[in-house]
Amino acid sequence: MTEVSPHVDGNSLAGPLSDIFAVDMTRAWWRCPDCGSTGPLAELHVYGPDPGLTARCAGCDRVALRLVRHEQDTWLTLGGAEGAFRFRTAP
Ligand SMILES: [Zn+2]
Repeated sequence: MTEVSPHVDGNSLAGPLSDIFAVDMTRAWWRCPDCGSTGPLAELHVYGPDPGLTARCAGCDRVALRLVRHEQDTWLTLGGAEGAFRFRTAP
């Protein structure tokens, strides 16, 4: 039997990422390079908060991003340099 870890939805990333990005992060779009799933940031599964936030693809569990805050620094890793987030800046 596989144990399922608790997670919250991708909306929990909007606040921490707004410190880095000047756009509305809820409008970011994820495309998974492994399983091909696409969807808004809110559909990612987010684990944390310690040692940081890790967002995973809802389709296959691939890491989409990691966000770690330490003192005055914020460290952001986007997947394995594959996949892409899309940001719309105009309605
Ligand atoms: Zn996937």
